[in-house]
Amino acid sequence: MDCVVLKFGGTSVQDAAALRRLVDVVAAEARPRVVVVSALAGVTDTLSEIAAGVLRGPATGETLHRLLERHVAIVREMVAVPVRASLTARLRRRFEEATSLPIRDASGRDAMLAIGELASSDLITAVLDAAGIPAAWIDAHDVIVTDDTFGHARPDQAAIRAAAQRHLAPVLREGRVPVIGGFVGVSREGATTTLGRGGSDYSAALVAAALSAAEIQIWTDVDGVLTSDPRVVPGATPVSRLTFHEAYDLARFGAKVLHWGTLEPAAEQDIPVRVLNSRRPGNAGTTISARVRRPSPVVVGLAHQTGVTVADVRPRGVAGSVRFIHTALEALAGESTRVNVVVLSPSRLVAVAADHAALDRVLAAVDDVADARVTRDAAIVAAVGEGIVGHAPVWSLLTLAAHHKHLESVMPTQSGHALVCVTTRAVALKALAHLHDTFFAPAHA
Ligand code: ASP
Ligand code: MG
Repeated sequence: MDCVVLKFGGTSVQDAAALRRLVDVVAAEARPRVVVVSALAGVTDTLSEIAAGVLRGPATGETLHRLLERHVAIVREMVAVPVRASLTARLRRRFEEATSLPIRDASGRDAMLAIGELASSDLITAVLDAAGIPAAWIDAHDVIVTDDTFGHARPDQAAIRAAAQRHLAPVLREGRVPVIGGFVGVSREGATTTLGRGGSDYSAALVAAALSAAEIQIWTDVDGVLTSDPRVVPGATPVSRLTFHEAYDLARFGAKVLHWGTLEPAAEQDIPVRVLNSRRPGNAGTTISARVRRPSPVVVGLAHQTGVTVADVRPRGVAGSVRFIHTALEALAGESTRVNVVVLSPSRLVAVAADHAALDRVLAAVDDVADARVTRDAAIVAAVGEGIVGHAPVWSLLTLAAHHKHLESVMPTQSGHALVCVTTRAVALKALAHLHDTFFAPAHA
């Protein structure tokens, strides 16, 4: 279907001013469009504190009330009078029901986290309607079918496609804009699930793939994907074109702008992803697609992650290697949303995870055939670019620059599109600016 999926992140829906910009962006798009929204900025963080039991007793009630009030203030400012009362009552019910959710179990915690997107999508449907853009609220539970890995649910794309045809396509044909909360899914048993933090991007891609959309637009608060994290490297600049592989590796190795899961459904159907700034809608942003013409492989961006656990695992003895790789692959498949593989061969596995329990489960599985060296609170720096692993000039430039900054050995990743160094937080943060200068400083005339 010739439609576009527009996804708005938390800061692009955070208050009335942001929602006025959202209305302008949606109005300016002439093609049929689906809108996917995050929770209002900060809401998921607060809900996850409640779900983790950090907030208790009366503090929970007060906090939920404050979240509700943020939504209600927008209702008063932007929603038409006739629907205000019913919308406010629905929002109130969502936040009140939160106090009785069983956060002791994983499904209760996901139901808690989901409130942010369920509330924001309901609110934003009314905001669009009031602005003269006919919209229809779509319950994410009706569309985003997943397994029951709470907190990191894996989507069932065939089921999502069928559900999208049933629930989204008719709304589009009527000329209305379906509005759906991102991040939220439903298990086959009907329990609320979530796709992992930052997962609204992923929802947008799943919806786009299900509808064979022409384009996915990720509206955020930066000018696209940047060459590095601007908080660490002030000179970071937007990258205009990336391949799906490049965006995937940047996201997996720590770039914050896009959830890595987004790239898979988009790449499978060759749907371009554009990352755009909702405060500067005229800017070109970043376009991610299957191919980008370049004379030779180049580094397009540097990603980094701190506070991660890194495991360097080697099989014991010669005979161990076949069983090693078999067992490792099986264990890694089960943790694919939480553990990133840097290197995997019959003689070595290097894996990185922010969630060390997930990595521990992989290590337990290979324990009787391999020895692991585990470093907690480590950091990684990754240079990413399509095909750089097979390209000696980039490799030697990186090795030299890395060595200069005391970065340990440069490892080629499995994908062929990233070179990764494992180090400490302090070294990583110091090295990034130097590496950035190496690859991105404007050539002196
Ligand atoms: N609201 C969720 C989060 O903060 C999902 C998202 O915004 O993508 O992680
Ligand atoms: Mg995000």
